[in-house]
Amino acid sequence: MDKDIATPLRTRAILEKYGFSFKKSLGQNFLIDTNILKKIVSFAELTDHSGAIEIGPGIGALTEQLARLSKKVVAFEIDQRLLPILADTLAPYDNVKVIHSDVLKADVQQVIAEEFTEFEDIVVVANLPYYVTTPIIMKLLEERLPIRGIVCMLQKEVADRISAVPGTKDYGSLSIAVQYYTEAETVMIVPKTVFVPQPNVDSAVIRLTKRESPAVKVKDEQFFFQVTKACFAQRRKTLLNNLTSQLADGKRKKGEILSALETSGIEPSRRGETLSLAEFARLSDELYHYFH
Ligand code: SAM
Repeated sequence: MDKDIATPLRTRAILEKYGFSFKKSLGQNFLIDTNILKKIVSFAELTDHSGAIEIGPGIGALTEQLARLSKKVVAFEIDQRLLPILADTLAPYDNVKVIHSDVLKADVQQVIAEEFTEFEDIVVVANLPYYVTTPIIMKLLEERLPIRGIVCMLQKEVADRISAVPGTKDYGSLSIAVQYYTEAETVMIVPKTVFVPQPNVDSAVIRLTKRESPAVKVKDEQFFFQVTKACFAQRRKTLLNNLTSQLADGKRKKGEILSALETSGIEPSRRGETLSLAEFARLSDELYHYFH
């Protein structure tokens, strides 16, 4: 087996060979600890039948671990300068395809249809670029891709928000948006020392396991998310105040908002952070009548 890419020595040698300089604007913090990488991959529970999708392979540190434990890896990399490097470092693996693309603009659904025909198990595994963590995760979930889940490294602060439960300071519209589609858990905290260059923030790995159907059933998904966002617009404000000021026509329909809260069995003086997903669903379904 080839020597791992993710050792400080080998990484430095690769970077020097190609005169590579990190672009902070692309969130380039590469992993240089093989044990951490193996642990991340273990959370994905891959088999030799699995397909793995990686976002941002960098110089291939995580990609090679995925290549060893899955049937095929498809990796999206935005930085053209990394393509020749990846061709070199990943040469020993014939089950890896690198696509030069911004994952936010890519037709991932189409790529899956073409590259993973007849795969029954597809998982996204990534050390995400931190400047776009949330848009990437939301894209992968909202497009309802045929994936089992996502295992990814991201800022600890965002991981905390994603896996937060009602009644905590981290619970908000991001927790609800992600937990609507998945079961979310923080599975590992990662020290800064395992990256080059070291990021300014603490990191964590989360595992998002897709639910067979969304956590709650609602009349209108878009409106449900609009209502949850409105309820958190100003965390210290009550539900009644946030909904009245945030929903279009809210002021005019204050009476209706009050009666929707009442019919849903939710005290108007409560704050958004105390509501469970089921309560948000009930509330948005009741409000739906008045706003459509
Ligand atoms: N996987 C490597 C590792 O763990 O060492 C690199 C991870 S680094 C945190 C993030 C990677 O994502 C970089 O290679 C960066 O160029 C790439 N990247 C940044 N924005 C991207 C985007 N919008 N689409 C695809 N790749 C992106």
